[in-house]
Amino acid sequence: MKTIGLIGGMSWESTLSYYRAINEGIKSKLGGLHSAKIILYSVDFGEIEELMKENDWNQIAVQLTEAAKKIESSGADFLMICTNTIHKIAPVLEEKIEIPLLHIADATAEKIKEKGYDKVGLLGTAPTMEMDFYKGRLLTKHKIDTVIPDKKDREIIHKVIFDELCLGKIEKASRKKYIEIIEDLAAKGAKAVILGCTEIAMLVSQEDTKIPLLDTTQIHADMAVSKAIEAIS
Ligand code: GLU
Repeated sequence: MKTIGLIGGMSWESTLSYYRAINEGIKSKLGGLHSAKIILYSVDFGEIEELMKENDWNQIAVQLTEAAKKIESSGADFLMICTNTIHKIAPVLEEKIEIPLLHIADATAEKIKEKGYDKVGLLGTAPTMEMDFYKGRLLTKHKIDTVIPDKKDREIIHKVIFDELCLGKIEKASRKKYIEIIEDLAAKGAKAVILGCTEIAMLVSQEDTKIPLLDTTQIHADMAVSKAIEAIS
């Protein structure tokens, strides 16, 4: 089995979801007491969030490259960044390491293509919804169109992520609002909605709506499991 490298802690709440999903995946594929081989480097999200607020992506790239190199030198076979937003600096990081990076948008795109959706909604932090690193990659590399909520709704989605979900708070009112926004995206032509932030599945699940949801944490974790056991399965 290959060793999975994880850069986590953004937030640690969602890193827990990754840890569980990857180990559940290995258990269901290999059975018995098998579990995943993981090297985890968990950052202080308070520091990273400060840099995000200052728009200092260069410094984020410096810090995460350092983490990636430590994971690589500890023997990981491939690397994952356990957050959608921080994939903004993925291209910089990729240049500095030898091991492959499993990009969360590529994992999600594979799932979208498998399901045959041509247009999907995207929920996530403001950078994920508004900047080009995610939507642009879906469009240019995978020919997938995205639709995002309007400004007022984007602010709500972002605020709930940082003020509630990253702190482990689950509020019914926020779930209701998220579902309304998801249904609004479907009305705008989205065939499914990407939960493009690794904490959102803590708040909404497929039972809450008929619109198909794409949980990026689960999708990314599933890809790690397949990659970890591809030579032995
Ligand atoms: N975990 C979140 C994501 O998937 C948000 C926190 C962050 O900014 O990294 O985007």
